[in-house]
Amino acid sequence: MRIELANLEDGRRDFEKAYQPAELDLGDERVTLCGPTSISGKIRQAGTEVFIDGHVDTCAQVDCDRCLKPLQIPVSSDFELEYISGGEYEGNRNVALTEDEMSVSVFDGETIDVDEVAKEQILLAVPSRSLCAENCKGFCPTCGANRNAGDCGCEEKEIDPRWAALKNLVDGK
Ligand SMILES: [Zn+2]
Ligand SMILES: [Zn+2]
Repeated sequence: MRIELANLEDGRRDFEKAYQPAELDLGDERVTLCGPTSISGKIRQAGTEVFIDGHVDTCAQVDCDRCLKPLQIPVSSDFELEYISGGEYEGNRNVALTEDEMSVSVFDGETIDVDEVAKEQILLAVPSRSLCAENCKGFCPTCGANRNAGDCGCEEKEIDPRWAALKNLVDGK
């Protein structure tokens, strides 16, 4: 869904949109959608800037980083966005940007693509690391068995490099 700024009444509009999982392509191999997405919010234009306050709900699915078990992550997040048109941005580029302004997005000055907003917000809400459990044992490096399912009986030959570094410290090497 695209919102044409020219169609805003008094520079404002509320919006609301729901998507089936297949309707939103997140463009990220790590993350898929396991339920419908809904997004709603208010859009407000002030001169060359556009502000959006909104909320997105969905169910995102990622794989456990260690054992690849699919994990469903409920997403329910509020967001505040600020857009500035490309021309305005170019004009201000030599002015040092404050940290606040770094979060401003550039847009074409005419339309806001709500689908893109939904995708961005979903991806931001999904943690970059995901484990099915803090103590997930992952796969055995020797036989490839899922060690959460039970001990595969292989000898633990490889020492985790982090422990090896610690051991060296202790040994005074
Ligand atoms: Zn796992
Ligand atoms: Zn094994």
